[in-house]
Amino acid sequence: MTAPSSILPSREPGPHNADAPAYWLRVALDVPLPGLFDYRSDQDVAVGTRVIVPFGRRKMVGVVVQLEDQPTIDAHLVKPVEQILSDLPPMPDDWMRLARFAAQYYQRPLGEVMLPCLPTGLRKVSAYQGKRSGGGPVVRSDARKQSAPASDVTPAAAPQLNADQEKAVNEICGIQGFKAVLLHGITGSGKTEVYLRAAQHALAQGRQVLFMVPEINLTPQLERSLRARLTAVAGGDILAVMHSGLADGERLRAWLRVQRGQARILLGTRLAIFTPLPDLGLIIVDEEHDASYKQQDGLRYSARDLAVWRAHDLGIPVVLGSATPSLESWHHAQTGQYLLLSLTHRARDAELPAVRLVDTRRLALEQGLSPHLVTAMQERLQDKQQCLVFLNRRGYAPVLSCASCGWVSQCTRCTAYTVLHRARGGRNLLSCHHCGYRSQVPRACPDCGDQDLRPMGRGTQRVEEHLAELFPDARIARIDADSTRLKGSAEALFAKVHAGEVDILVGTQMVAKGHDFSNLGLVGVLNADSMLFSQDFRAPERLFAQLMQVAGRAGRHLKGAEVIIQTDYPEQPVYQALTRHDYKGFAEYALTERRAVGLPPFAHQALLTAEARELRLAMDFLSAARDFVGQHPDRFPAADLITLYDPVPLRVVRVANIERAQLLVESSSRPALQAFLSVWMQAMPQLAVDTRVRWQLEVDPLEI
Ligand code: ADP
Ligand code: ZN
Ligand code: ZN
Repeated sequence: MTAPSSILPSREPGPHNADAPAYWLRVALDVPLPGLFDYRSDQDVAVGTRVIVPFGRRKMVGVVVQLEDQPTIDAHLVKPVEQILSDLPPMPDDWMRLARFAAQYYQRPLGEVMLPCLPTGLRKVSAYQGKRSGGGPVVRSDARKQSAPASDVTPAAAPQLNADQEKAVNEICGIQGFKAVLLHGITGSGKTEVYLRAAQHALAQGRQVLFMVPEINLTPQLERSLRARLTAVAGGDILAVMHSGLADGERLRAWLRVQRGQARILLGTRLAIFTPLPDLGLIIVDEEHDASYKQQDGLRYSARDLAVWRAHDLGIPVVLGSATPSLESWHHAQTGQYLLLSLTHRARDAELPAVRLVDTRRLALEQGLSPHLVTAMQERLQDKQQCLVFLNRRGYAPVLSCASCGWVSQCTRCTAYTVLHRARGGRNLLSCHHCGYRSQVPRACPDCGDQDLRPMGRGTQRVEEHLAELFPDARIARIDADSTRLKGSAEALFAKVHAGEVDILVGTQMVAKGHDFSNLGLVGVLNADSMLFSQDFRAPERLFAQLMQVAGRAGRHLKGAEVIIQTDYPEQPVYQALTRHDYKGFAEYALTERRAVGLPPFAHQALLTAEARELRLAMDFLSAARDFVGQHPDRFPAADLITLYDPVPLRVVRVANIERAQLLVESSSRPALQAFLSVWMQAMPQLAVDTRVRWQLEVDPLEI
């Protein structure tokens, strides 16, 4: 611990005195400029130290990244550091390496990686120099009375492992040094138990564990298990939880406990990957295929991929678990880069549900429901089992339309339909799911004046309404982004389902993930086909994973459960594989296709996106960026290994009055792509002279 006095400004900055000792620092700052910035200090400062420095007319918190014998610019121009922040030890080397790697791999300035991933207080000048800074955020946080840790947890007994689990645990615990493990286990096969045992082993060896989950919603259930099994046994609160739902102070406290080694397990969503863990000995990435591991703005990193890099860098094991691994990870397991461990049976005395395809081409559907599904629901409800109706579309209806002239409700700011929503009190409104714009529902058609405006298609609200008519005695709950807007409401709704206070659950993908429903006998899937025919080459992979996952909610604790998928295309390989619960078959089929056309994982991609008020400006910028490559063969020596596609407008080209276009870059060689991108990005400032255009680069994009 450092003495509070060291938090005070090191010295009043003044003109550079040639006789005073000078230390030349290279500092990373969170500014959209490449490179590091030169500062001078009259004290020795360790790499990794945070400092407050003047930048233009502002002051900023930066991280000292290098120490130099000489400044890289004229010494007289180098400004002095204003304050050396010593409330924390310097950021550790491995954290610096991780940040460097991420910056280089994702082509971002180092400061834009390092600073945003720190808790807010640690990177805000006002937290140190404001009127009420009180010694800085760390001192304030430490002074606060710690909330009592969950001491009321009852220790839970560990189940006897089955053979598959035992083998997996033994393999993982036997790993010395780095190894990436792909734990492929069907839903309900007890992957969590394997994670727990592996974590226990690492803890017993005095190491810390980073346990990553894709979504906040999955943390409460796991938090309980971890506390019951590990914390209660350890006798103190060794668990820290970190996700974007935490208040700044809570996040800082969790971060500090982990960084100081007080917390031994960090359970968190993607942002947790950047937490310093001094004794890290094991990383677990649950549901590793999940797209939520990908950050979608700023530094567009994949926390899963960084987890593998971090494990490699530290020489420790990383376990990637899923019932439907990403094809990238599956491919790595097939080529022997990852160690494949499989759990092939459900852990409890339960079977996988039977998956039935209902061919809807020749069926009269009522409100989107086939007679098969309705009958099956009736039977389950009679047997006092729960039913889940899955529909990945929220709202009442995806569009409102005029029966006489064909007018459809459209967002004025986006190239998209507006979705009809039932607000509280039965009021209707139209909402754009792209820009969030909301408008009144017109009384009559704006084009022809006809009053016969009809909702077209259906979302979860409409299905819920119809189910309430069909099953008046059933207790129905809907879980989607609308019904769970308030903090804690998702947890409350799920708790009701777990407590058996819900008979029919209607929901979007939110219900598909992770939950261990004990009395769910039937899952009905509506409108799956809309996910099949998307432009994106990953659409079938995503659909398969999503349906496997939602199907996996059924029959976890009971026999004879069933999944009914309504489709117009029952012969599609995705659906056929689902009926056999055949991830491997599907993966082989999909990988063969990908290989044939040279798509990931057989190629590596990056996406340059441009946005402007006018599409032409965005397209011009992208064309110039592409042409630049051909015009400078000397700078791009390996350009023959790179494929640059033509710029194209995005499918939803306009969002909130901004037009968007993209340019895809592809290579069969990752090093070649990396080398190409870094040269290309260096040229961007000179290409992006038109300030009306904003651009960004995404490496390994998930959506194209
Ligand atoms: P997954 O994460 O693979 O979908 P879970 O870890 O949720 O599966 O396990 C499914 C259920 O099986 C849970 O209720 C869990 O407590 C239980 N379970 C796990 N392993 C065993 C075991 N060896 N014996 C009995 N029950 C088990
Ligand atoms: Zn009309
Ligand atoms: Zn809109």
